[in-house]
Amino acid sequence: MPKQPFFIDYPQEKIHPDKNDYQCSICKISSLKINGLLENHDKNCSYRINQEKLHTQN
Ligand SMILES: [Zn+2]
Repeated sequence: MPKQPFFIDYPQEKIHPDKNDYQCSICKISSLKINGLLENHDKNCSYRINQEKLHTQN
């Protein structure tokens, strides 16, 4: 089984104070939608941009 990297160390914030739903605090996309995948962040999300840089260095 291929090992797929998960990216879960992005800054998160609660969507609703009274619910257990989180979103990326940079691009505001729900963490359920992101599902640990970098490509699910917004193209302009600085977390995604930084991680893509780190992972395309060689
Ligand atoms: Zn993001």
